[in-house]
Amino acid sequence: MSWRATFLLLAVLSLAAAKYRRYDGHRVYRVVPSKGHHLDLLNKLAHENKKEITFWKAAYVTNKPADVMVSPQVKNSFLAALKKNGVKYSVLVEDVQKLIDKQRPTGAAGGKFSWDDYYPLEDVYKWIKSLPAKYPGIVTTVVGGYSYENREIVGVNISFGTNRPIVVLEGTIHAREWISTAAVTWMLNQILTSTNSTVRSIVDQFNYYILPVYNPDGYKYTFTDDRMWRKTLQPHLPCMGADPNRNWDHRWSEEGASNNPCDGKYHGPRAFSEIEIRTVSKFLASLGRDLQLYMAFHSYSQLLMYPYGSFP
Ligand SMILES: [Zn+2]
Repeated sequence: MSWRATFLLLAVLSLAAAKYRRYDGHRVYRVVPSKGHHLDLLNKLAHENKKEITFWKAAYVTNKPADVMVSPQVKNSFLAALKKNGVKYSVLVEDVQKLIDKQRPTGAAGGKFSWDDYYPLEDVYKWIKSLPAKYPGIVTTVVGGYSYENREIVGVNISFGTNRPIVVLEGTIHAREWISTAAVTWMLNQILTSTNSTVRSIVDQFNYYILPVYNPDGYKYTFTDDRMWRKTLQPHLPCMGADPNRNWDHRWSEEGASNNPCDGKYHGPRAFSEIEIRTVSKFLASLGRDLQLYMAFHSYSQLLMYPYGSFP
């Protein structure tokens, strides 16, 4: 290889590496706001430093810990504000980049799909599409909708017979919540393979539509550009993406959502502005009255929220 080709190759490789956003020195603090003004302070700091301070776990009630990721640029001023106001905190994650490096897919299963690793979109879809041949007459693949970059939102229908109530399971509507795709595919696999008689007597009563990666553009983006991406990829100037889970028409733009296009909880310019929500919503409506249960999986918070999650 000539020196010119070597130089070009190195340049391309370093560009590819530079593309993936790094979080070196970003720390996550577990903060316990014990007074109302502590909550106000945390939310104000995050609001004023959107790019530097991000909630991993929101500060919405006193005496419940909030987890806050803080960049090295504002670390000192953030800690000074906490100390000045007597807010207790501890370090939860010393260096977010190290955590991201640990989570990168290892490919250790040698092309086999497992639940000991994370998988890029193509591998998740490949596994989903392999299921009908393994379970003929029970599993069919479905396209629940489409993404802004025109990807199919691929899922499965599991049918154990006619006239059964329908259960819908959804994972990774928020792009970075990889564990929800793992959780949903794990359940999918259990529904198909469990030999436990108690499990079978329950799961066989229903039919299922399962969408393990609701936000495929965003999910792919977390592997190629930014591990912490949450939204869709549709441009909403001056930023990109809306929070698809704040884009339904039920109580659209009310509490818990932001009207700032640069915020992670941006609700979009109008309900159903995101094609993912528009198309999957139509798909769900087409299931009719047999649709009895819809479960969405997120990470993290250890919360079970039931209809409707928008109510306090
Ligand atoms: Zn979520």
